[in-house]
Amino acid sequence: MIPRIHPLPAFKDNYIWTLISSDGVSAGVVDPGDARPVIEFLTENRLRLSDILITHHHMDHTGGLGELIEKYQPRVFGPGGIKGIDHILEEGDHVEVFEVGFRVIEVPGHTLDHIAFVHDGGSHDTPILFCGDTLFAAGCGRLFEGTPPQMLGSLRKLTALPPATAVHCAHEYTLANLAFATAAEPRNVKLRSRIKIEQGKRNIGRPTLPSNIELELATNPFLRCDLPELAASAMRRLGRPAKDEIEVFAAIRKWKDNF
Ligand code: ZN
Ligand code: FE
Repeated sequence: MIPRIHPLPAFKDNYIWTLISSDGVSAGVVDPGDARPVIEFLTENRLRLSDILITHHHMDHTGGLGELIEKYQPRVFGPGGIKGIDHILEEGDHVEVFEVGFRVIEVPGHTLDHIAFVHDGGSHDTPILFCGDTLFAAGCGRLFEGTPPQMLGSLRKLTALPPATAVHCAHEYTLANLAFATAAEPRNVKLRSRIKIEQGKRNIGRPTLPSNIELELATNPFLRCDLPELAASAMRRLGRPAKDEIEVFAAIRKWKDNF
């Protein structure tokens, strides 16, 4: 049985993804940057916090750890080097939350310690991805610690997942990302229809997430750097043709930093 997954808004635009066990007793959270919305949600729904999953060390993903650990004593999974994590994970490790198995993949780029959690799904359940700040709807994380080839390699690991994989990103950046995507790839007609759909969700206060891999491959410029229109955009930024897809990606990412 797949647990229910619920986004808890935090700060300005973070989501703390919450998994709820099918018996409605326990919860797990991904990247609790703030303890307060988590405690409120747990209290309101009479849930016990059993598990925490962490994708990377940034405070907006880990800031609630101390308080939540003290209050609930959950199991805490994540990359090494973060205070409070008692199950350190690496590529290929497995975590089970409410009988749902997740495998760990390393996705350096935004930070060097960044990991993602993948539930591969089966004949009757959809694959699930928690990707923190690596892949966003129509965007990708800023390169704070890693290099363009590292990030492109990480994004390729994610796009190799089945097209239906539900992509749970840690921020609501979708509309701003789509505005940039349109500048980077003005002739992509799928962007226009996606903007309408996502704007509609925001207008009624709903998250645009989860996305899925198929939609991202069709509308996310950072996953489309092998295409001529993105290469042409990169050339305009560089003032010369890019040598390869990595240089296209690097130029587009740098442009987005100042967009
Ligand atoms: Zn981050
Ligand atoms: Fe973040």
